[in-house]
Amino acid sequence: MAIERTFTIIKPDATAAGHVGEIITELERAGFRILALKKLHLTRAQAEGFYAVHSERPFFESLVTFMTEGEIVPIALERDNAITALRELMGPTNASEAPPETIRGKFGTNIERNAMHGSDAPATAAVEIAFFFSRLELDR
Ligand code: UDP
Ligand code: MG
Repeated sequence: MAIERTFTIIKPDATAAGHVGEIITELERAGFRILALKKLHLTRAQAEGFYAVHSERPFFESLVTFMTEGEIVPIALERDNAITALRELMGPTNASEAPPETIRGKFGTNIERNAMHGSDAPATAAVEIAFFFSRLELDR
């Protein structure tokens, strides 16, 4: 399997709880290389843009409120089979049902407050990385 890029966000719940370091350690131990990383606080319009694909879903407004309640840490990652590997390390969407060894199982609370984002496909990862990082920040 070739080297692939994926994208994660350490969400406001995990950032506020002081779990950024532990989560980055888990990512590095799982073999991910950090391509680019920053910390920021999204505006409502920015969060609506990032989650535009979910705009018709019943949870959209609540999700945007959650994602704008505090600082987040977006990270562009690289690894062999990165997309699938990150989804496995992260665990299922509903943190209350996530296995205890997964990041959502360790640091998440419920289906909304689930500690981290992970891209679902290569095309999505490319769009999500470009949403947060410029070419200057990514190209090596
Ligand atoms: N979400 C929610 N309620 C739901 C489904 C999703 O609040 O019923 C939130 C949750 O924070 C999730 C995000 O919306 O991570 C994006 O949903 P998606 O279905 O893409 O889940 P993911 O890919 O993050 O597992
Ligand atoms: Mg998703």
